[in-house]
Amino acid sequence: MPSSRDIFSSLPASAPDAMDWTWAQWAPYYAELAARRVNAANAPEWLRDWSRLDELLDEAGSRLHVAYTLDTRDAAAEKRHHVFQENIVPPARSASQRLKEKLLAGGWPIDGMATPLRNMRAEAALFREANLPLLTEERKLADEYDKIIGAQTVTWEGRETTIMQLQPVFLDADRARREQAWRLAAGRQLADRDAINALWQKQLAVRLKLAANAGCPDYREFRWRQMLRFDYTPADCESFHGAILATAARAATALYEKRRQRLGVATLRPWDLAVDPRNRPPLKPFAGAADLERGVARIFQRVDPELGRYFETMRAEKLLDLDNRIGKAPGGYCTTFAAAGRPFIFMNAVGLHDDVQTLLHEAGHSFHVFESNALPYEPQKSPPMEFAEVASMAMELLAAPYLAADEGGFYSPADAARARVEHLEKSLMFWPYMAVVDAFQHWAYAHPADAAEPDACDAKWAALWGHFMPDIDYSGFDDVAATGWQRKLHIHCYPFYYVEYGLAQLGAAQVWRRALDDHAQAVAGYRRALSLGGAAPLPDLYAAAGAKFAFDAVTLRDAVDLMMETIERHDG
Ligand SMILES: [Zn+2]
Repeated sequence: MPSSRDIFSSLPASAPDAMDWTWAQWAPYYAELAARRVNAANAPEWLRDWSRLDELLDEAGSRLHVAYTLDTRDAAAEKRHHVFQENIVPPARSASQRLKEKLLAGGWPIDGMATPLRNMRAEAALFREANLPLLTEERKLADEYDKIIGAQTVTWEGRETTIMQLQPVFLDADRARREQAWRLAAGRQLADRDAINALWQKQLAVRLKLAANAGCPDYREFRWRQMLRFDYTPADCESFHGAILATAARAATALYEKRRQRLGVATLRPWDLAVDPRNRPPLKPFAGAADLERGVARIFQRVDPELGRYFETMRAEKLLDLDNRIGKAPGGYCTTFAAAGRPFIFMNAVGLHDDVQTLLHEAGHSFHVFESNALPYEPQKSPPMEFAEVASMAMELLAAPYLAADEGGFYSPADAARARVEHLEKSLMFWPYMAVVDAFQHWAYAHPADAAEPDACDAKWAALWGHFMPDIDYSGFDDVAATGWQRKLHIHCYPFYYVEYGLAQLGAAQVWRRALDDHAQAVAGYRRALSLGGAAPLPDLYAAAGAKFAFDAVTLRDAVDLMMETIERHDG
């Protein structure tokens, strides 16, 4: 008698064959997995079948999303994407949820699944039926925030412009022009102050209810569990803030002072932060996307031959779409074609150094996909955010020595040095800003009654800002300085999700420090850590990469000193 799993022999070989499947075509496979008699002996086979199914479905969805973002004017692509999101994703999620419950109830010992099972158990323990409508409500409020921000336009030099589109003006050597643009943007943002205050109060109320329903004493604990933060506590984050204040914030003060002197201004105003302090024109590394691809391919060959081969595979298989074109969605991302085990990088390159930096970063994410592809089960493959960003940020640092043309990259030695300095300065200055964003949220959810008062939020943000970022002169613009929390997307749409970047940057700096002593060994550790995907706890992933998952001032000072020394050496 054929076993019921024989239907798996009829699964399509690749996701493109299933992109237009209806749910009725997917459902029998999920039903078979739900019905199959599973025991310790056949549990690995069952989990492999489920993984294959989930990966095909996931890749079908990713490919439809990619096709839509490549040309948002293509109505047919948009329709296919929406049909999949509306008709396939919700039932697939429920079907997967049932299989997860079966896996947890079975308790079968499956090699390499301890960490993914721990995550699933935590999600199951936090699940409350009563929270489903609240989570939908939370999503809607986040969409409302997006809508408010998206509608913020100003008239600049006779043309209606979004605040984002004003960014190039802040690179202009003409200080008066920068100030004018900044005042215009700040005034427009302040006009939405009441709307965002009201939205924040609603968000806060929903989040407190989510926590109460789940039996958590506060939303911070709920969010900690929801984000699967097993390996650090709020107290660790507070230690990290203190370490940042003692190290990175001091270094940032020195960098701001250097900028002030070079610009020859009495104080640094908020419109003085992006312009080149020596009034040099922007770097022009490449002429088109093909040029960018070639240059970055040469850099990866220098970093590591195997990583270089991964990138060549992406070029050969057309897994890169880098140039900015009319109709393309904004931004950049790296996504996964899970069944094929391949990454895809989407970008809007226009010829700036930022584009080089973005591609190095996204390629680090893509190497994670290649390296973790050998793991047998789908739930093992997604790394925690605190480590995913180590893969990308470390790649930016490992690649930096090869930015000069005579090392494989794009630039004259002087321009390569300038690019490195700009990158390291931005990275260093990020830590104090991150600490403000994170500390604000720790305060808000530990003091929800205060945080429901917009004036208290403004006062708290202003105090934190003065503490961590004292070097920018906001005089005359107290309202703008105090309402920074309103302009930070993550606070409204992804609560507490931000410290990950600060932690990962510290991990990345440690990988880089190791490479200075022994490049081959550091890259081998980096690759080994990526190959673990999400199948090991966070501290083990860091350790495999030769780094410590750390919050302390000693580890941070080491990284800050290395960054400052490198800046000084290259900033002639
Ligand atoms: Zn990233």
